[in-house]
Order: sequence, then structure tokens, then C-alpha cells
Amino acid sequence: MCGIIAFLGNRDNAGKIVVDGLKKLEYRGYDSFGFAEKIGDKIRVSKSVGKISEFKETAKTFAKTNLAFGHTRWATHGKVNRVNAHPHASADSKVVVVHNGIVENHADLRKMLEKKGVKFVSETDTEVIPNLIADFLRKNSPREAVRKTAQKLVGRFAFVAAIAGESKLFAARNGSPLILGIEKFYPKSDEKLLAKVDGSAFFIGSDVPAFLDFTHDVVYLDDGELVEIEESPTKDHFHGHFFEIASGRPIKKRVISIDLKASRAEKGDFTHFMLKEIFEQKETITRALNQDEKQIERVAELIRRSFGTFFIGCGTAGKVCATAEYLFAKIARRHVNVIFGSEFDTQEAFLTDRTLLIAVSQSGETADILEAYKIAKQKKVKTVGVVNVAGSSVARQSDVVLPVNAGVEKAVASTKATTAQLAILTLLAFTVAGKPEEGKRVLAEAASSINDFLNPRYSAHLEKIARKIKNVESLYIIGKGADYPMALEAAIKLQEVSYIHAEGFAAGELKHGPLALITKGTPLIAFVPMGKFRADVLSNVAEVKARGGRIIGVSPKNDELFDEWIRVPAVGAAQPIVNIIPIQLLAYHLAVLRKNNPDLPRNLAKSVTVK
Ligand code: GLU
Repeated sequence: MCGIIAFLGNRDNAGKIVVDGLKKLEYRGYDSFGFAEKIGDKIRVSKSVGKISEFKETAKTFAKTNLAFGHTRWATHGKVNRVNAHPHASADSKVVVVHNGIVENHADLRKMLEKKGVKFVSETDTEVIPNLIADFLRKNSPREAVRKTAQKLVGRFAFVAAIAGESKLFAARNGSPLILGIEKFYPKSDEKLLAKVDGSAFFIGSDVPAFLDFTHDVVYLDDGELVEIEESPTKDHFHGHFFEIASGRPIKKRVISIDLKASRAEKGDFTHFMLKEIFEQKETITRALNQDEKQIERVAELIRRSFGTFFIGCGTAGKVCATAEYLFAKIARRHVNVIFGSEFDTQEAFLTDRTLLIAVSQSGETADILEAYKIAKQKKVKTVGVVNVAGSSVARQSDVVLPVNAGVEKAVASTKATTAQLAILTLLAFTVAGKPEEGKRVLAEAASSINDFLNPRYSAHLEKIARKIKNVESLYIIGKGADYPMALEAAIKLQEVSYIHAEGFAAGELKHGPLALITKGTPLIAFVPMGKFRADVLSNVAEVKARGGRIIGVSPKNDELFDEWIRVPAVGAAQPIVNIIPIQLLAYHLAVLRKNNPDLPRNLAKSVTVK
């Protein structure tokens, strides 16, 4: 969470570059924002509460400078206010830092620094970082001061630091993503690994969209690494040097050219990214199926051979994983384990070198997943990453990667990545069953039916239903089999953007307790299947109807119990994919009608890089 961007290079509008970059990272945090600019021997800090997209620049906003860095915050420690916004400066104003993550030992470090007379001004954990650097600077070079500080910090973090009077930027990573972008990178030689890279300008970002307008040559920093960027002695270009935080030794890194088109995302004619991304599902399911056949067969073989397969995910991806339990039971007649990323460490007793871990993550930077990977590595567990962001930490740490291919997902509430992940898990279940062709056919038919039904008329129908329920206090969703995790996912979607209290249940569970919550007019969204479970779910629906509930049936076929019917095509094993799409639209319309910004829900941020 939080977006970082920094610039040092041969342009004199660094502040503007940084603020424009921050706007592209807003989905990572939007409590407050700020930026720092080098002006002569000083570093000027500007910060505000609110969203960077609402920031109004004037002719005087930016200084003429070639060094700047900025931050959009997702508060973990300390209220959302101007003082707690980043950048944070040391008490002597010499060191300025932006930080992503949590410094778990901040209280001890703060006490230690206070004893030395340092006065703190904010409530953040971050403020110890510039002050530690300033403290080390008394007896160390700038790079050593930054390195020793990074060594002292416990927790997952990434930070960028600048020191007054120095034409340099430092960045360190341990757990949170940091990517270096190099404009006019050279030497473009055959040499793959470099300890020093040159360029006309350098960018540091938490995510590549921050600087994609300038370059597609990047270096992914790994945990325990530090980069120093400085002007060349000839003053006509800039260098980046890489070091290991633990030892201070130089290390070699690979410069990768990333696919520009895949990483770009603009709203186009849509009012919000969320709506655009919902509509993109016309193509993304087909793209998700575009897997390397050998890789997917390799994963299927790993599942067949494993003694215990664990699917892990967080939030929406966790619900996608939960469908695997049903999909694999039905399609592949195989038991798989499903657990949230944050709970994986409770399963240590079962982990051996015969265990398989399949992690589903949109961003590939989710801290809870990366923590699970640490345990997996210790226990020699094989790992498969189902990831949307190529080059992300999960993608780089997995033994096998199945790319989700959904393209950049900007809205905080996941839509197109969710259904693409569902498609991949469905295909995987068919492949384990030895029927990959059947899987592809079922999913291709589902993709083509999405192409037919997902149109403005369908969206208008969902808006009409949203108008009728927009003022309710609570609503409930039920489903059976793989539709049960989809009921949980529907609840998350509705919570995230409409802020209406929503809860999902297994259809048969309502009568065991939650039925007490139903009063006259309480909406119940029911995923009503065709086939042998239809009668069961309809009985559960009738039980709610009898108590005054208002029934919104999501089904290929209407029923007299439904007050509203949301039609979905009948697509066999791909049903969870088509069922969730109308609920994404319903959640979107509820958000807009309730005057919420569906792209940037309150209290949330995309890519949860803290534990
Ligand atoms: N822990 C820091 C804070 O609360 C950084 C949070 C972030 O990653 O945005 O300010």
C-alpha cells in the first residue's frame, strides 16, 4: 500500500513529474499525499490531506529542480492528518524520507532517539527513519548511514531518502515493492547483470505505471537491497549502484524491458475504472485461457503428485481460492486445501517437500502471501503463482507462474482479475482431470456468452435494481457449491464500494441462524443454479420469502419466488464466473447512487503490502 515515486535526472521539472506519477499510483493509498524537492542545499516538503487527483497546481507549486520524490499514504500508524503525511524529515531537517510499510520496532527506535534529544513531531512509525539516518550521518557516509538504518528496521518496508546538500537519492527494500526505471539506459550490451547502470534519468516507483510515460527499462529491487542514484562526475548523466543491505557489498542486477502496452491503463470513455474493468471481462476470460499448455500441464502434474495442495489468497483472491475446493471435487475428484494467506502459517505441521502451494494474487505483492512463501521456502514446498502483475514478488519467487493476463487493474475492488483467476483455476481442475480441451471449450463458451450479455442494457437493468435497494441497511447473498464462495465474494464487492452491510452464506446455512436477520424487505441475492441443486436453493429462498425477504434471483431461469430476476447464461462449470459479474455491476451502481467513489473506496488501498 502507499505509492512512492522519486526522480533524479536531466530534467528540471522533477516535482511535476513526481506529482503526475503519484496520480497514477493513487489506487495504492489516498489518505494524504506529499512531495519533496531539492532546492539548492535544502529539501522543501509540501503535503496535504486528501486525494492527489484533487490537488490543484499553480504556477508556483513546483521549484525548478532535477530531484524530487513523493508519496500517497495509506495510514497504518497515526491519524490521517497533514503532520502524519509523508515525506517526513529528520529533526535537523537534513534527511527527508518517504516510506511504504511498517517499522515494527519503531517504538524502541523512537525511545533510543529521544534519549539522544531528537524531538518527534508526528505519530507515524516512519519518522524514526530520517532521524536514524541523520544520527548515523554523524559518523558515516550518506550511503552507509542509509544502509545501517535499513539494517536496524524490523518489518516489511520500502523507503526513499534524500539528504540535504547531496544530489543523490537512496532507496531500500525489504518486503514492499520498489522498481527502478531508467531513461535512455546504457550500456545496452550483451551483459545481463550490472552493478552500475547509467541513464539520462532515474525513477523509483512502487509500481511501474508511475513512470511508464518515460521509460520501460526497469530493475526490480529485491528484499535486502539498496540503490544509490547519483550524478556522474561529468554531470551529463546519472548512475545507479546496487548494494546488499546486510554487508554493504555491491551486487549485480538485471535490467528488464517491460511490455509497455500491458501496463498502461486509462479510463477511456468510462466514468470509472471499475466500470471499465467490469466491461473488459468481455475479453479478459479469453486472455486468461491463453496459457502455455506445457506450464499448465506441469502444474497439473505437480497437483497430482503432491501430498497436499494448498490454495492461498487474500480478500477476493481468497474467495477465488475457495472455489477451487468445489471445482476440484467436481471436475477432478480431488481434495485440495484452501486457506487465507494470513492463516497459512498455522498449517506448518503439514508442510513437507511433497506439499504444493498455489498462491492467487492480483498484485503479486500481498504481504500475507509473501510471508507464506517464506515458510514454503523453509519447508521446501513447491510454489505456483497465479498472478496478474508480471515481475511482481510472487511471480519472481514462484517455481511456476500462471499469468492471469487481465491487464492493469486500477480500481481497488477487483473485478476482471477475479474472473480471470477463476477461469485459470477452472482450467487447472479440468487439466488435472485429464480433460484440458473440455475445460477450454466450457470456458470459451462462457467467454462468448459474457461478450453477449455484458452490454449497456444489462448494466441499466442492474442500475434499476440498485435504485430500489440503495437505502437498505443490510443485504445477504446465498449460493451452494462453488457459488458459495461467490456469495462471499459478492459480499466483499458490495461492502467495498457501496458500504452497505453485506454478508454471504452457504444457502443451506441460513436456517441455522442468520434467518433471524431477515425482516420485511431485506434483500436476499440468491445464486440459483440449474440442475440437481436448484430445488434445494429454491427451498432456502422460499424460507426467506416467507419471512418478508425481497428476493433477487441470479439464475439462467426465472422463478415465481423472485422479486427481481438477474438473468445469467447457463455455462456449466464456468457458472461462478458469469454469476459474479452482475453483482460487480450492482455494487458499482450502488456506489455511484450512494455518492461513493467506486474506484477509491474509503479506508482501503490496492495491493496490501502490510501484514
Ligand atoms: N506506516 C507508514 C504510515 O502510517 C506508511 C504507510 C504506507 O505504506 O502508506 O505513515
